[in-house]
Amino acid sequence: MKLSSKITLSPPRVRAHGDAVKVMVLERLGKIASGNDQFCRYCGKDKVNLQCSRCKKAYFCQECVNQGWKYHKRWCQPS
Ligand SMILES: [Zn+2]
Ligand SMILES: [Zn+2]
Repeated sequence: MKLSSKITLSPPRVRAHGDAVKVMVLERLGKIASGNDQFCRYCGKDKVNLQCSRCKKAYFCQECVNQGWKYHKRWCQPS
């Protein structure tokens, strides 16, 4: 079986989810590029003030700090 036929077999629901993630990532990269990096890395809320205490680069809101940290710690790189 060719790889391309496997991809076309994936259910539309899964593909739609993939697109949503892509849009979300692009939106966040756009924010960072425009100098606004103070948004919750988990839910995307703007002007949040809880900062990662290790790298001081990632921000989270009060509601997401625990959930967000679980994901963030995988790529947290203190400088
Ligand atoms: Zn949040
Ligand atoms: Zn961090």
